[in-house]
Amino acid sequence: MSKIAVAGTGYVGLVSGACLADFGNRVICVDTNLEKIEALRSGKIPIFEPGLDDVVARNVAAGRLSFATELASAVKESEVVFVAVGTPPADDGSADLQYVEAVAREIGRAMDGYKVVVDKSTVPVGTARKVRDWIAEELKNRGVSIEFDVVSNPEFLREGSAVQDFTHPDRVVIGAESVRARELMKEVYRALYLNETPYIETGLETAEMIKYASNAFLAVKITFINQVANLCEKVGADVQDVAKAMGRDGRIGSKFLHAGPGYGGSCFPKDTHAMAMIGRDYGEPLSLIETTIAANDSQKTRMVNKIEAGMGGSGSLKGKTIAVLGLAFKPNTDDMREAPAIAICEGLAARGATIRAWDPEAMQEAAWRLAGIKGSLAFAKDEYDALAGTDALVLVTEWNQLRTLDLERVKSLMQAYNFFDLRNVYKRAEVEGMGFRYFGVGR
Ligand code: NAD
Repeated sequence: MSKIAVAGTGYVGLVSGACLADFGNRVICVDTNLEKIEALRSGKIPIFEPGLDDVVARNVAAGRLSFATELASAVKESEVVFVAVGTPPADDGSADLQYVEAVAREIGRAMDGYKVVVDKSTVPVGTARKVRDWIAEELKNRGVSIEFDVVSNPEFLREGSAVQDFTHPDRVVIGAESVRARELMKEVYRALYLNETPYIETGLETAEMIKYASNAFLAVKITFINQVANLCEKVGADVQDVAKAMGRDGRIGSKFLHAGPGYGGSCFPKDTHAMAMIGRDYGEPLSLIETTIAANDSQKTRMVNKIEAGMGGSGSLKGKTIAVLGLAFKPNTDDMREAPAIAICEGLAARGATIRAWDPEAMQEAAWRLAGIKGSLAFAKDEYDALAGTDALVLVTEWNQLRTLDLERVKSLMQAYNFFDLRNVYKRAEVEGMGFRYFGVGR
């Protein structure tokens, strides 16, 4: 059993903290956001993440998991301190490390004995050494000499299946430089280590690079199939069949080969930008990633163009009412960071459309993220309410309930029958058979 503090109780910090407690460790989750900590203390989970509430409740009840706003005392009570704060993009696209630095310095000011400081946040190559320097500087300011190690332990969980991903990872990556730190990390992940989860030990820079390279690769793969889809539309091929056949090739694999409106979320956009920036900084530009970023941005605009073209061409969106179904960047999360729905709603509004939007979990997020177009936007009560009196349905996020719409009912609610399936969920023949005009991506 390890004594652990987790700084930052967002998607990653809360899931990591709760699951590490579930592995038998004693965990204090710390956040500067008082509201968040108060909610957690009263048993409320501030994010939508399937299964997380059970893990949190179980471990709070067992006395293994607690919540605090003050990092200093949590550091003193722990031997391992995880850094799980945000690393949002700075104006130039690089990762903004201000929160990581603040936590590192606070650890340096508070620590009273040996600590392993673990970078769980996604950070540029070289950050672990910076964290070490920031802590060392604070110790020097205090005039004390205390031993500590910094470890890089990138996180690969996916929102929407975060608990399952954390407890059944494809691999655990530990970048460390001392035997002591490596041994302590084995203790932290003992439940997985004993379970024969692939446990990859590397140096610090390698661990940091593994995370960026993995995310950038997936972003490239999505963008690849999106570009193939765009070409399919021109040549009369069906990208669904192309992807299915490609995916059968073991060297390619079927995952992340779904054509759609472009990737979004809290990770791929910012991590591809940050990696491109690292490449430029080191004089080794990553042209493939630079191109991916640009292509993904234009894929979102392309969706707005597709809808406008489908509705009759330039100017045709003026005065139309459009139902946008699904706003979160993917199903099973309320996260709307960089969600394609934002660019699509804004694009439709800019071309004169009125939007009726709905998402099962992201309505609160949408209220402020789409505030810029609130004059052109109404939030619906449910998926069918969103369709009332509309000229087009645009399916942006493939939540389960949106995969199985009652098409009779849909038709009875709409005033014109345009069906834009940006996730290729529906069968063209079935939708057209009901009297809709059907538009997929790459079909
Ligand atoms: P988040 O924004 O949901 O959470 C960050 C939390 O840190 C917030 O609650 C914030 O209040 C808190 N915080 C900020 N400064 C603090 C401080 N000084 N002390 C304590 N708490 C502080 O972010 P997230 O999505 O959990 O991402 C965290 C990191 O993990 C990022 O680097 C991200 O790239 C990485 N990551 C995210 C995912 C994901 O799916 N969200 C997956 C893998 C890796």
